[in-house]
Amino acid sequence: MEHIVIIGNGISGVTAARHIRKLSDKRITIISAETDHFFSRTALMYVYMGHMKFEHTQPYENWFWKKNRIELKNGFVKTVDHNNNELVFANGEKMSYDKLVIATGSKPNKFGWPGQDLNGAMGMYHKQDLEKLEKYAPNNKVCKRAVIVGGGLIGIELAEMLLSRDIPVTFLVRENSFWDAVLPPGESAMINRHIKEHHIDLRLGVNLKEILSDENGNVKGAVITETGETIDCTVVGLTAGVSPNVDFIKESGIEIGRGVKVNRFLETNIPNIYAIGDCAEQHEAIDQRRPIEAVWYTGRMMGETVAQTICGNRVQYKPGHWFNSAKFLDIEYQTYGWVWAAPKENEARFYWEHDGGKKCIHINYDKHTQEFLGINNFGIRMRHEFFDKILTEKRSVTYVLEHLADANFDPEFYKLHEKEIVAKFNIENNTNLQLKKKSWKRIFSA
Ligand SMILES: Cc1cc2nc3c(=O)[nH]c(=O)nc-3n(C[C@H](O)[C@H](O)[C@H](O)COP(=O)(O)OP(=O)(O)OC[C@H]3O[C@@H](n4cnc5c(N)ncnc54)[C@H](O)[C@@H]3O)c2cc1C
Repeated sequence: MEHIVIIGNGISGVTAARHIRKLSDKRITIISAETDHFFSRTALMYVYMGHMKFEHTQPYENWFWKKNRIELKNGFVKTVDHNNNELVFANGEKMSYDKLVIATGSKPNKFGWPGQDLNGAMGMYHKQDLEKLEKYAPNNKVCKRAVIVGGGLIGIELAEMLLSRDIPVTFLVRENSFWDAVLPPGESAMINRHIKEHHIDLRLGVNLKEILSDENGNVKGAVITETGETIDCTVVGLTAGVSPNVDFIKESGIEIGRGVKVNRFLETNIPNIYAIGDCAEQHEAIDQRRPIEAVWYTGRMMGETVAQTICGNRVQYKPGHWFNSAKFLDIEYQTYGWVWAAPKENEARFYWEHDGGKKCIHINYDKHTQEFLGINNFGIRMRHEFFDKILTEKRSVTYVLEHLADANFDPEFYKLHEKEIVAKFNIENNTNLQLKKKSWKRIFSA
């Protein structure tokens, strides 16, 4: 029986395994050095915050794997010997495969800062990072202050986690405004304000130089910034982005760029080896997407896709329109289509911000054709299906504004702002758009 081995039990590896099982009777093994069972990485923060226990982050009961004849192996793969179709584990064990799926995810970036590997300095990615955080930052008596280095989606989650235990946080962000490589200035400024309102000591344009060490290899109570300032702390969160977790196959002959290089079928340069999820890098980016996409839903899509190919139905990975969502403390964020930090030459923008400064929408459209290209929503929930359809149908910006009520997905009794938004667009563009009443028929039409 053909043996499919998957390295990595994250969303991409597990999705691949589940779908291979649905489609075939092949022998399947999933390997992980992190945990015995799959868990939802995106929910890790809520364990530290006390909203759930770690067991609650496991979408499948422990009996699921045996019942579905998916073998689980706990171990760290040290290298892949593709000439012999064999994996070598750190403890010297070997495992042979017929087809191999590399789904090893990401690792937190570290830029060679002195002290980056001290006790008390940690990324926020693996379950082990959570355990370290419990150890070094259980409360504000043990951890009087934490410094977080790197302003992105994981950094702000870590800040929220520490705040939930009343641990003071200093947040070092290299850029001059929060996540400004991704967010346009209005949204980025809103998040700067919001972070400060939560009494987080946000330092924009500040880089880490060094983490001080004591003689026992612990964070010695301070970091030093590149400007020479000393900031007292006992915990340092390193959240300056992630990169593909592929060091273990650097010498294997499997083609590596930043990640494992794959074609549209998620095939590597070795015929029976595939790569999916955060660790996979497209030879050429798909549309305007990045060649590496470290997001949950694309990992799941790649897992489904590669399962088809492995089971004999060779299918291309087609992720569709870009979307993403996140949360900046109390402000929810969703994006559909493309809204770059700065508009491209052919693009025009419409920005509306609520007086309270915690909600906004930002629409990007083609200034020549008026085609809607994308939207950022902060503090207002909008329906994914609506924008997916609008982008496929290449609707105009005016169509989107007229149908904003259909797009809204806020819970009942939330204050609606569509009229205000359309009125602002009309004033700025000298138009007379009328907001259409919400239509459930339109919303649920194919
Ligand atoms: C705190 C946090 C919050 C996030 N929030 C969001 C969010 O809100 N929305 C979103 O879209 N994305 C979010 N992400 C990103 C998302 O979690 C990842 O994109 C996704 O988990 C990647 O899945 P994966 O299966 O590719 O890899 P992973 O989940 O990283 O799984 C890979 C597994 O392989 C194991 N492994 C690696 N190398 C080896 C080896 N050599 N031997 C054995 N095992 C190995 C790893 O230990 C790991 O268990 C978040 C990430 C983090 C860290």
